[in-house]
Amino acid sequence: MPELVDRFGRRHTYLRISVTDRCNLRCLYCMPEEGMKFMDQDRLLSYAEIAEVVEAAAERGIRKLRITGGEPLIRPDLDRLIGRLASIDGIEEIALTTNGLLLAPQARKLKEAGLNRVNISLDTLDPARFRFIARRGNLEKVLEGVRAAAEAGLNPIKLNCVLLKGINEDEIETFLRMSVEQPLHIRFIEYMPIGHDDAGWRNHYLPLGRVLETARMKGYELEAASEAPEGSGPSENWRIRGAAGTFGLIHPISDHFCKNCNRLRLTADGHIKPCLYWMDELNVRPALGSREALDALLDRAMAIKPENHEMAALLAGEAQSHVPTERRMSQIGG
Ligand code: SAM
Ligand code: SF4
Repeated sequence: MPELVDRFGRRHTYLRISVTDRCNLRCLYCMPEEGMKFMDQDRLLSYAEIAEVVEAAAERGIRKLRITGGEPLIRPDLDRLIGRLASIDGIEEIALTTNGLLLAPQARKLKEAGLNRVNISLDTLDPARFRFIARRGNLEKVLEGVRAAAEAGLNPIKLNCVLLKGINEDEIETFLRMSVEQPLHIRFIEYMPIGHDDAGWRNHYLPLGRVLETARMKGYELEAASEAPEGSGPSENWRIRGAAGTFGLIHPISDHFCKNCNRLRLTADGHIKPCLYWMDELNVRPALGSREALDALLDRAMAIKPENHEMAALLAGEAQSHVPTERRMSQIGG
């Protein structure tokens, strides 16, 4: 079967699968505190339907999967889905992105089902600030999740930290020190205006150049981390000399990363999104039950995939060439 190569020669080997848009947190950069409308449960793809899409995609060269959400661990029996996906020919790696709240009791079971790696979102190490950013939940549970993931052998563990101007930028050094002391990979992420180009984004967006400035100001010697963990994707990776771990910068806005994009996204309600940023998406439901139709849909995704997002243009107040998505990050999966 032909591989998934788009008009710009980019080969697609990575599929991000959202299993729910619901979440037990309300992170201020991801969704509003009140009034978020969630999908009806009967609109979610079943595990069998997700597996059918993955079988078709794996035949076309998809090798790596990431399970995400909303919060994926609130979907019941996630280990059952992971076990099913791990048995599909061609799938080499399954990763999970989670807020970590429900991870501790499930880490071992997920690992045994076939999960290889985990990214845990952690924007602050201050309990009160955690409640301010996430608006719910509790930091200690997330840290328990990080420890349980390590004990279960879900290595390397990556921590996703969205940097927010005026909110957690003073913790850059704390996170850098964490990468020195522990074998963790800290991924600093730029705040993106996905589904919301609003004052919150404009006021709190922080270009990640600030991380390297902080590291240099503190006198850290930086080395390009050539041995960066598998699947670092668009991340620019660094190690502080002598550190146990590494850190990475995901800066889609200040230095966009579309040139090497190798990913497709499947939303919880069954839409393939060729690009995180734009509105274009393809409904898989009418194609389920027919491998030919699923193949045609994947070909179509390659045909309509745009060359790049335009978040920097948005920040500069310039005109956009397409229509941005109205989905929030929790409705896509990040
Ligand atoms: N609930 C899980 C979690 O938080 O890890 C998985 C879904 S969440 C949408 C996936 C990732 O997207 C998280 O690391 C989160 O921090 C990140 N994210 C959410 N909204 C974002 C935004 N507006 N800009 C940048 N990253 C964002
Ligand atoms: Fe939930 Fe993740 Fe969005 Fe936070 S970032 S509200 S944990 S989906």
